[in-house]
Amino acid sequence: MKNVETNKKIIQKKQVKIYYLSPEYVYYPIYNNNPKFFVKSKSNVFKETLLFEDNNTKNYSNISGQVMGMKNISGKNYLVLKNDFHEKYSAPKSFRRKVNKLTKKEILDILNENDAASYSSDIKYFINNFESIDSLILNLLICEDSDKIYSEVFNKYNSDILEMFDAISQIFEISNPVIMLSDTDDKNIEFVTNLSGMYPDIRIVLSHDKYPASHPLLITRKLNLSNALVLSSMDLYYLYSIVKRNKKVSEKMILISGDALNSDFIVETKLNVLISDIISLCKIKLTEDDVLCKNSAIRAEVVSIDDTIDTTVDAIIIAKKGNNNPKECINCGLCNKNCPQKINPQMYKLNNLPFPGKCINCNMCSYVCPRMIRKDI
Ligand code: SF4
Ligand code: SF4
Repeated sequence: MKNVETNKKIIQKKQVKIYYLSPEYVYYPIYNNNPKFFVKSKSNVFKETLLFEDNNTKNYSNISGQVMGMKNISGKNYLVLKNDFHEKYSAPKSFRRKVNKLTKKEILDILNENDAASYSSDIKYFINNFESIDSLILNLLICEDSDKIYSEVFNKYNSDILEMFDAISQIFEISNPVIMLSDTDDKNIEFVTNLSGMYPDIRIVLSHDKYPASHPLLITRKLNLSNALVLSSMDLYYLYSIVKRNKKVSEKMILISGDALNSDFIVETKLNVLISDIISLCKIKLTEDDVLCKNSAIRAEVVSIDDTIDTTVDAIIIAKKGNNNPKECINCGLCNKNCPQKINPQMYKLNNLPFPGKCINCNMCSYVCPRMIRKDI
């Protein structure tokens, strides 16, 4: 990966909005050798029909249409569905007027019925541990380019997100709800401050946003909180959508960004579409040097163009592969200086030792190293 200064400014680029809410086909990756199917090839399905169970995960249709069968793309198996564009459900769904009028049990029932725990690890943690959570933090810090998507989601759904945040804090008796904002995010600061009268229990905290300040552990440490759960605006958008509509989420907003792109793309897309289809829609021409990173260029979780958009993909960052050949350490001290956990990454990297438990895997020590010496080599 290319090295950059750690205090690199978030580049504000022109934003291009793209919509991919009615794809002709959707793709469900099959991970297990022996998935249990509940539909047959050529059968017609409604939205939310249970398609198959794979690795203890239930997969539901996010369109109405026809099951086309299995397809192998670059060595991976997918169940493919063709869209009839009617978005039909098998039965009408109830619609909740106000989430804050629901009881704890009603919210948990809706979340469980709609498999909300599968949407993100933080939502799963909330459902399983709400009784021990004392503080809930909505994280709106923008520490790297990919975090711009959380700001975008908040800009678009701010009233819904705040309604949900306030409702779950009150209904689940979480005494300390906090919104963490970048001290330079004037737009959201103004919006949240204007609404603070409506939500008097929510505390607003401003922070610097130098990476990795948005890491949950660093946020809770800064706020001096224990038993805290940090949620993103995307988590709250999922919770609101599920609870308010009593439906599974079938579409979402993602960011496509990267140093080599002149614009950022904000894509409103159906879930389970191929990343390659979205890249084509944005008219991005990838080169052999490009690598696609899921949600963060710094943590560098590489995804393939043949992967699909699922609820865990919030951003695709297109980075350059760079020179992956590590060279001799020059004792520049950058990895040491930038480690938020005051570990000496140099010693562990150079001696190929396992990193201590207090490492939060932010990958900063690899990202700043001018000699390409990576933590995971
Ligand atoms: S050792 Fe590296 S990955 Fe671990 S906390 Fe420090 S900078 Fe982050
Ligand atoms: S490992 Fe890399 S960042 Fe750390 S001191 Fe050596 S050259 Fe510098």
